[in-house]
Amino acid sequence: MNSKTLIPASLNQPHVESFPYPPFEKQRQPFPGLAGKMKPVPDHGETSYKGSSRLEGRKALITGGDSGIGRAVAIAFAREGAAVVINYLPEEEPDAKEVVDLLRSEGRKIIALPGDIRNEKFCQKLVHDAAEQLGGLDLLVNNAGRQQFCDSIKNLTTEAFDATFKTNVYAMFWITKAALEYLPRGSSIINTSSVQAFQPSDNLLDYAQTKASIVAFTKSLAKQLAADGIRVNAVAPGPYWTVLQTSGGQPQEKVEKFGEQAPLGRPGQPAEIASLYVTFASSETSYSSGQVWCSDGGTGTV
Ligand code: NAD
Ligand code: MG
Repeated sequence: MNSKTLIPASLNQPHVESFPYPPFEKQRQPFPGLAGKMKPVPDHGETSYKGSSRLEGRKALITGGDSGIGRAVAIAFAREGAAVVINYLPEEEPDAKEVVDLLRSEGRKIIALPGDIRNEKFCQKLVHDAAEQLGGLDLLVNNAGRQQFCDSIKNLTTEAFDATFKTNVYAMFWITKAALEYLPRGSSIINTSSVQAFQPSDNLLDYAQTKASIVAFTKSLAKQLAADGIRVNAVAPGPYWTVLQTSGGQPQEKVEKFGEQAPLGRPGQPAEIASLYVTFASSETSYSSGQVWCSDGGTGTV
């Protein structure tokens, strides 16, 4: 086999060459959007992710689990043997139903608890209901996010700034705080940051700040919770093909070229990042806490 030969298909791995490359069609949806309406529909690992009991018996709450990276994580966790609760906004029910139906048809345990995490009381109820329905909680993935581009600070309203911080920062704080009532030693908290924490775009002023906050929150909390045997880590995605980007996350001209700037020349598919969350979730990484794991298509941001 020479160095340019593809990995044999028999290894059951998708070839890098088989993923979609830009240009993409223009496609605008109102926030939060539906993954099922994207062209092409993202690959969340529905047909490709194979579990190997790495999370057998674990109990996970995943926010934003209906679509994109959160859905890929829900599929991966469930197929690794975890029971899963997903949260999402009520208007995302069609996406949530797809992943719930898929995993239930395989005999996996998945529970849907929709609601708006910008509300502290709801965040507390979400955690309590999740723990009650799962019979405990030992994995928390703070993944929900709001990203709406805005060209100038002069046009960035207090309402938009507040909504981004409530969704990306406050909710993570409220949900994590409530979850500590349940998380036993050996639990793992995984937060979704972004390359925007390190290389902020001019048109994502509010969003980039929240993603930097998530890095600091992760590193600080990792120190606080080490003595309790709870690890806290973050994943920092680069450009991933999700509805976050096509429902106001980027201007349409950037959607068409999405991922082009990455050395791999394309956006990642959610299926390509789920195993990072599985690895942080698993006790295989028991000496890793306060880490940020970037996946950005070759840029090497952190
Ligand atoms: P996505 O739109 O599929 O997922 C985001 C989810 O956040 C939504 O499905 C929605 O359920 C949830 N959400 C938003 N506001 C909410 C609210 N008020 N209440 C409850 N849920 C709410 O897009 P994604 O790209 O998979 O996003 C997942 C995470 O990945 C986000 O934190 C995002 O910032 C981060 N991220 C994405 C990229 C990318 O290129 N796609 C890059 C870096 C970081
Ligand atoms: Mg969604």
